[in-house]
Amino acid sequence: MAGQSDRYGTGYALPVMQSTAAIVMDGALLARELREKTRESAARVTKALGKTPCLKVFLVGDDPASQAYVGSKTRAAEEVGLQGETLRIPADESPDRLLDGVSRANNDPAVDGILVQLPLPPGHDATRVLDSIDPLKDVDGFHPENVGLLHQGRPRFVPCTPAGVLALLDRYAVPLAGRRAVVLGRSDIVGKPVAALLTARDATVTLCHSKTRDLAAVCRGADVLIAAIGRPGFVTREFVKEGAAVVDVGINRLTPENIPQHLAQSPRIRAALELKGRALAGDVDFDDAAKAARWITPVPGGVGPLTVAMLLENTVKAASLHA
Ligand code: NAP
Repeated sequence: MAGQSDRYGTGYALPVMQSTAAIVMDGALLARELREKTRESAARVTKALGKTPCLKVFLVGDDPASQAYVGSKTRAAEEVGLQGETLRIPADESPDRLLDGVSRANNDPAVDGILVQLPLPPGHDATRVLDSIDPLKDVDGFHPENVGLLHQGRPRFVPCTPAGVLALLDRYAVPLAGRRAVVLGRSDIVGKPVAALLTARDATVTLCHSKTRDLAAVCRGADVLIAAIGRPGFVTREFVKEGAAVVDVGINRLTPENIPQHLAQSPRIRAALELKGRALAGDVDFDDAAKAARWITPVPGGVGPLTVAMLLENTVKAASLHA
């Protein structure tokens, strides 16, 4: 069910989709709004610089998911008036080719933002590559200098997916200060930066991982639960405190062969599998968790679109820093 509402005092009339119990946080809509704002700031920066801000993306190999992500990032950049360039490198080329490409982009004044699509194929040292990006062009926010600034509470480039998580929570006015937050997953690209951002917002944060004991009980203590583990439908109602906000970062590709049994009953997933032979699922069993949550994100249409929107914002920011 969808309708217009500003009952959460966001100052905006948001279409609020309501499931049985939970408000579905619409990341696709918020991403469209943010992109409109970025289009305006991109135009201002273009005028001030006398050139169009440029995002350079490095794609190594032919992983279909990475190709799709890169395509959507550069298309989105162009849609808001930025220049999106992709350098494709075959998987079997020497890793030096990527390092050399990054070094050239670092020194190229026409390039404002640099992104290396992860994961890299075997043989590449991702840490070495990310460390080699000019921190002032590091629009993914993975360079150690930018990671350090984030953890000190003075962020330069906030990693895109974590920034999207916070933007969504803010837009739906989910209270954070003084609340208990549990982040499920401790990766450098999602879990740790989300935990840092929530800490900076005065939430009391617990960071969980594969060795955490009594995981469901720990999660049930959360007013805000962020799932980023890459396990389809792992977070069920049993993990969710009544009235909690649940943000699902996971993106898992399901086929009839790998679908977990408990997700096979989901009408949305069944419909997608019947239609296309594949479906996307998050780390949260949406139908089950929504029975307890007050706010919940869907997959697709939740955090995913915000990742791209934040990348565009970071690119404009990089261009203004260079100005
Ligand atoms: P990752 O690097 O593989 O890290 C996974 C984390 O989850 C690790 O900390 C791991 O614990 C933890 N974990 C795995 N299984 C667990 C379990 N059974 N119980 C508790 N913790 C468990 O993953 P990632 O890169 O952060 O990505 C996580 C998910 O988010 C994936 O589905 C990915 O596709 C998705 N993602 C989405 C976006 C987006 O734009 N929406 C962006 C990035 C990632 P250990 O540290 O102990 O191994």
